[in-house]
Amino acid sequence: MPLDQSVGPAGTFPGFSGPHAPHDSDLYKCVHCGFCLQACPTYLETGLESESPRGRIALMKAVNEGRLEMSPAVIGHWDLCLQCRACELACPSGVEYGKLMEATRAQVEQHTSRPFTERAARSVGYNTLLPSPVKLRMAGQALKFYKKSGMRTIARGTGLLKLLPGDAELADNYLPELSKKFFIASGQIHPAQGVRKAKVAMLAGCVMALTHAETLEATVRVLNRNGIEVHVTGGQGCCGSLNIHSGEPDSAIKMAKKNIDSFLSVNPDAIVSASAGCGAAMKDYDELLADEPEYADKAKQVAELTRDIHELLVDYEFRAPTAPLNVTVTYQDACHLANVQRITVAPRTILNSIPGLKLIELGEPEICCGSAGTYSLTQREMSARLGKRKAKNILDTGAEIVATGNPGCAMQLDFALTQVADEDGSERTTRVRYVVDLLDEAYALE
Ligand code: SF4
Ligand code: SF4
Repeated sequence: MPLDQSVGPAGTFPGFSGPHAPHDSDLYKCVHCGFCLQACPTYLETGLESESPRGRIALMKAVNEGRLEMSPAVIGHWDLCLQCRACELACPSGVEYGKLMEATRAQVEQHTSRPFTERAARSVGYNTLLPSPVKLRMAGQALKFYKKSGMRTIARGTGLLKLLPGDAELADNYLPELSKKFFIASGQIHPAQGVRKAKVAMLAGCVMALTHAETLEATVRVLNRNGIEVHVTGGQGCCGSLNIHSGEPDSAIKMAKKNIDSFLSVNPDAIVSASAGCGAAMKDYDELLADEPEYADKAKQVAELTRDIHELLVDYEFRAPTAPLNVTVTYQDACHLANVQRITVAPRTILNSIPGLKLIELGEPEICCGSAGTYSLTQREMSARLGKRKAKNILDTGAEIVATGNPGCAMQLDFALTQVADEDGSERTTRVRYVVDLLDEAYALE
């Protein structure tokens, strides 16, 4: 299987080493059967072995054995991976591909140097903004001002964006819609209605608190209506998943520690996340903090207590609404809910419980929408291709609404549906909502 011209004799190049290196026991589990190929979005789009799970693992082994340099070309193949983990579902050998890719990316960051602008952008994003909810909100306010004040029109009209470092024009096109009022975690307690079934700590998250604050508020209402007391504990912040996926485990560990202290301070029965990606990351805190003696046990406790919102509602036998919501809905499985947390039934159970709501299944449900955390910014071309593929599948259902359970997916679907409508010269009619928004709306009609 020829993968790269720079393959040399064994031992020519330094292999993986240092902290967070992929374990040989994980790396050598792959038996090259190829069952994962047809599940991989980047393989389906390119037809290239080097853009498949098997090809990327072969590259990891070659680098690990010193037969291949960690060159920009090799890193490029790894960077194009969405970390959607569809390949894990298809793999009969139980290769934990997500773990391998996270460790490989950590190696890339340790042993290579990215271009200056990329390093600067990563440092601001991963080490300054994401760890600090206050700074993130300040950036959100600045973004609101930029969009509303006319500065954006000037920047676009004068060609200023073209002069800025990095792909500022691309980033500008992809600016998300922001919530009118951001969701702030400051120790609020929202009491349960009726008999209290449970007390939960809720993650506000980073991006979701700025872009989908209304959904976080709906999540609190839905939980309260179902007898669940919600504590939006102070001192919490971003879950760290974006850092983990981008090869920045050390900053992710610091963020996880803050969250662990914050959530466990209220001794909750469960910890709930309304974002699939964040829930998936928190369920893995035990692995992330396994080598941190003071936190290992607490991390295990948080991992065991964490529930996705749909999972939690079904676990606590949520009440089906009585008022009808006469809409047609299709459901988009977020990769970190379906492939990582293996939750596909609970969101559909909730949607099907709403009287009048007609659920239409989506074609190619297992193919990632192309959001994948920061992927939509760093791998714009592939992200856009997958976004359009998903948008076309959504439009084929004829549904008025596409429901999801992850902020990255919600933003990507919004962007892709608008882009497809613009390209077709048609009017966009499909709305993007969260499953929990629809449940909240149905309750409100009672
Ligand atoms: S995680 Fe997704 S994109 Fe990456 S190799 Fe697996 S299936 Fe392909
Ligand atoms: S399905 Fe699993 S064992 Fe087979 S090639 Fe893919 S990763 Fe390797």
